[in-house]
Amino acid sequence: INSKLPNIETSIFAKMSKMAADHNALNLSQGFPNFPSDPALNALVDQAMSDGYNQYAPMPGDFGLRMEISKKIENLHDRFYNPEIEITITAGATQAIFTIIAATISKGDEVIIFTPAYDCYAPTVELFGGKIVPIQLKPPFYEVDWQEVADNISSKTKMIIINSPHNPSGMLFSKDDMLELQDLAEKNDLLVLSDEVYEHIIFDGNVHQSASKFEALAERSFVTASFGKTFHNTGWKMGYCTAPENLMKDFQKVHQFVVFCVNHPIQKALATYLKDKNHYLKLSDFYQQKRDFFLHLMEGSNFKIVPSKGTYFQMLDFTEISNENDIAFAERLTKEHKIATIPTSVFNEGRKDFKQIRVCFAKTDETLAEAAKILREL
Ligand code: PMP
Ligand code: GLN
Repeated sequence: INSKLPNIETSIFAKMSKMAADHNALNLSQGFPNFPSDPALNALVDQAMSDGYNQYAPMPGDFGLRMEISKKIENLHDRFYNPEIEITITAGATQAIFTIIAATISKGDEVIIFTPAYDCYAPTVELFGGKIVPIQLKPPFYEVDWQEVADNISSKTKMIIINSPHNPSGMLFSKDDMLELQDLAEKNDLLVLSDEVYEHIIFDGNVHQSASKFEALAERSFVTASFGKTFHNTGWKMGYCTAPENLMKDFQKVHQFVVFCVNHPIQKALATYLKDKNHYLKLSDFYQQKRDFFLHLMEGSNFKIVPSKGTYFQMLDFTEISNENDIAFAERLTKEHKIATIPTSVFNEGRKDFKQIRVCFAKTDETLAEAAKILREL
């Protein structure tokens, strides 16, 4: 059989987490917290199971949960998504992204992504016959050159994929970035996939610029989010997608045959938990404390560091530490120094000129202190 993705290897997250386990290393590679999700939320899941929510949920998701999501977005971004027809609950943002691309991209369509890019975008586009047009974000601050984006739009361009706060760089799209994007998308009649899984993890008083804030952009955007990131339970694989009715109709045509619906008791629990805004509004402060703690511990290290502005990731530039490429460096760190990180060339089409690794700081203060102790000695 000919592979449909001949050049794709096992995901770096699977690879590095396994290497961490095999070598008994601290795992700061794959992005997940090493502290528990709120016992009150866990209890709500138990309760929903006892209450008998153990059969299929409605295809688009539990209506109560869709209503709470709609209210949240209206409060935060002043945009109303009709919970009946414009919101679908998904098995994490990953399934939402897959479904959006499956529903919209056909053979020959071009899709603009910004590199370094989260690993699932390109293979999924290629699976449906689309062609990736990568545009490099400019280090050290990973900014977008919008003229370059305009120059790369062709008659075949169908979609632009954005991700702010950005994994792995921790950069944010500003309001001006969003207005530039809106302008280009309107002029060229493009769809937008806005991956906003770190929407509630944003530092230094910055404000998340959701695609749903901008009227003309929202009209042509699929926005996706992840409860796993927000509520410290990535293993539950719960997320959602919002889009205007005409786009959501096509999304649901695919969704119903990918999974039909997702975990019912967890949806019931989230519908209750989401009613308390503190559960997500306090997240930025929580993670800023962790970022600041880690950066403080890393003062005087040989890594060059531009502080992350959002997400729970920090990039570390090792130019002054080693001549190795990032993959060799990350593997050696795991095996010899017992700390696993993510080499970032995997997000950058394999380019080896970026001497950067990514660490996840969604960890207990003890783990961060242990990690910084190892990293400072390099
Ligand atoms: N997009 C980005 C940028 C991510 O970092 C992740 C990892 N959580 C996802 C999507 C996938 O999210 P989920 O775990 O909810 O599928
Ligand atoms: N989003 C997580 C990260 O960037 C990993 C998710 C996954 O393992 N696919 O580390």
